[in-house]
Amino acid sequence: MRRWFVLLPLVLLTACAGAVTKLPTVETSAVYEEAKKQRALVVKEYINSFERLQRLAYPILLANYELCGEEVTYLTGMFTANADGFNGEMREAMVKLRNLDEFIKVVYVVPNSPAAKAGVKAGDTLITINGNQIAYGEGAEEKFDRQISKIQKTGERITLELRRNDKAVTAAITPAKACNYPVYLDASGVDNAYATGTKIVFYQGLMRADNDTAVALTIGHELAHNIMRHPQKGMQNAVAGGFLGALVTGLTGVNVVNTFSNAGRSMNQRDFESEADYVGTYLMARAGYDISDAADAWRATGIRAPQQISHGSSHPPGAERFLAVEKAVAEIGVKRSKGQKLIPNDFHKLRDDEAEPTANTDEVSN
Ligand SMILES: [Zn+2]
Repeated sequence: MRRWFVLLPLVLLTACAGAVTKLPTVETSAVYEEAKKQRALVVKEYINSFERLQRLAYPILLANYELCGEEVTYLTGMFTANADGFNGEMREAMVKLRNLDEFIKVVYVVPNSPAAKAGVKAGDTLITINGNQIAYGEGAEEKFDRQISKIQKTGERITLELRRNDKAVTAAITPAKACNYPVYLDASGVDNAYATGTKIVFYQGLMRADNDTAVALTIGHELAHNIMRHPQKGMQNAVAGGFLGALVTGLTGVNVVNTFSNAGRSMNQRDFESEADYVGTYLMARAGYDISDAADAWRATGIRAPQQISHGSSHPPGAERFLAVEKAVAEIGVKRSKGQKLIPNDFHKLRDDEAEPTANTDEVSN
C-alpha cells in the first residue's frame, strides 16, 4: 500500500510535465470551423488535380485510338456528379464548393472537347439525354453512366437538355473516338500511377508536379502499358515501384519503391517498363505535346532521388531511362522530318495482336 504513495506523486508529476507557458485558449467551435476550411482546401486541391489530369490525358486518349485496337470508345469531354455520389467527411466541402444537389450536374468540361464545342458549361444541370429523363437522387450517377456509356459505344450524336440559371439550354454533342482507358484520380498522396489493363489510375501525389510535360509523359507511359497489354501479359507479378512516381515528384522515392516492388521483380517487367517508356513517348508526341525536353523528367528525378540514377529494380535506372527517352524523341524527330506516320517500330509485333486479352483488371502495374 505504501508504494502507491510513492508512485502517485510521480504519476501526477508526469501528467503535469506539459507546457509551462500560458497557452491561448482555442474554442472547440473555432477548431470545427477551421477543420471545415481545411477540408475545403483539400477538396479544392483534388478538383484542381482532377481537372488538370483530365485536361492532359484527353488529347492522349483521343490521338491514339488507332493504336488501341478494339479498346475504343467515344468521349464527350464532360464530367458529371451529384451530391449523392459523395460520402465521408469531404462530402460537405465538395457539395458546397460545386453547388451540388440531387440532380446530375456538369462539374468539368475539357477545353476544346465536343462538349465544350457544343456549349456545355460546368454548373449546368442535366435534364434529359436524347429525350430521355435523367434520374436524380441516390443512384442517379450510376443510371446516367449506364445511359451515356450505351451511347458512347456507338458514337452517335447526343442531345442534352440542360438547365442553366433557371433557363433551358440544348446542346448537341458529337462524341470523339478515343482509347477506352479512363483515367482516375485517387486522392492518396502516394507518388505513383498504374495501369490495370482497362484503366489508368493516378495517385494525387503525382499531380504535385508543376511540369505538365512530366505528367503527360506518365500518362503516355501508363497508356502504353494498357495498349501493349502488359497487365494481361503477366506484369502483375512485378508490381510497381515508386520509381515512376518519383519521376514527377521525387518524394518518398526509396520507401515507395521498396513497398511497391516487393511483390516481384522480373526482367520481364523491366522490359515492359522500357517498352512503356518507348511507346509512351510516341503516344505523347502523337497527341501534339512538345516532347523535345521530355527526357529531362528523368534528370529532375535524379536530382530529387539520386539513388535512382544508377539503380533500378523492377524499373530500369533513371540514367538509362533518360537516354532511352532521348533516343525515342530523336527517332520520332526523324520520322516527322520524313513525313512518316508516328508509329513505334515493330508496334504490331510488340503489341502482340494475337494474344487474347484476359480480364485481370485488379492487377496493378506501374
Ligand atoms: Zn510502368
